[in-house]
Amino acid sequence: MPRTPEEAAQIIMRYTPQACQEQNQFMAEVFQTRGGRIGSGMGGVIEALWGFYLNRILLREGVTDIQLAWIYGHEYNDFACIDIASEWDPETRQGELLRIEVKSMVASADESKAHFDRLSSEFLPDELLAVFLWDWAPSTATANLVHPRIHDQFINKATGVAALRDALHINRGGTFVVEGHCPDNCAPGTCSHVHEPLNSAGKRERISGPISTRGTGKSSYAANFGGLLRMLTSRGATAATGARIIKEHMAANASANEYVRFMARNYSRISRRNKFET
Ligand SMILES: [Zn+2]
Repeated sequence: MPRTPEEAAQIIMRYTPQACQEQNQFMAEVFQTRGGRIGSGMGGVIEALWGFYLNRILLREGVTDIQLAWIYGHEYNDFACIDIASEWDPETRQGELLRIEVKSMVASADESKAHFDRLSSEFLPDELLAVFLWDWAPSTATANLVHPRIHDQFINKATGVAALRDALHINRGGTFVVEGHCPDNCAPGTCSHVHEPLNSAGKRERISGPISTRGTGKSSYAANFGGLLRMLTSRGATAATGARIIKEHMAANASANEYVRFMARNYSRISRRNKFET
């Protein structure tokens, strides 16, 4: 019996903390340096290493029917979980059980550069989102040296986090482009902007949004949508309803619940503003 996507998702989620632990041991031994750059691509290395370590653990644990494949030529640092017995075609997704979008963020940076900004309409139900929170840590063995270390990780269904993100976007006064009502006045059937997020000022959040809603300043799009931390933040008049939306999603959805707890235990302002204990 081939595995279901749900079974595969549960296996990947179960072994991810162990993969991070083993990855940390490796990085403490090998990635030692003075200094320690931020924005150096180390986040991408950490994202990739997770996939390799997870595969190692699957083999060790006797899970021989699935493995992670690193999708080439892809905009996101994505893996596909594939059924080993099948032919894999990343174009048609033949042989795939599910995909995983992987993000990393530096714990000491105020806001992650990484955005979880794919549109909800683009997700398949079993897709996973993984987020690794890391930073440079002092070496315990050698003075003056540091190495990258994953402090904490999140992995669960992408759709649950996206639903919470979208609800909070609307709560802040944001909208999504609706078919037949594109600000670019696209003819029906030719509009590529449907579901694109616009902020409360009507400006596009992503570069693929309507051209007539481009920003007036230096950047041509707002890029707040899907900020890994920012997406949970509601200010001013929207703060109280934002906190209520977060609680509702946490109660209804295991993935949203885990994502908020992950952020709250690492960023006290999330728990403070939304008034709950971690
Ligand atoms: Zn349009």
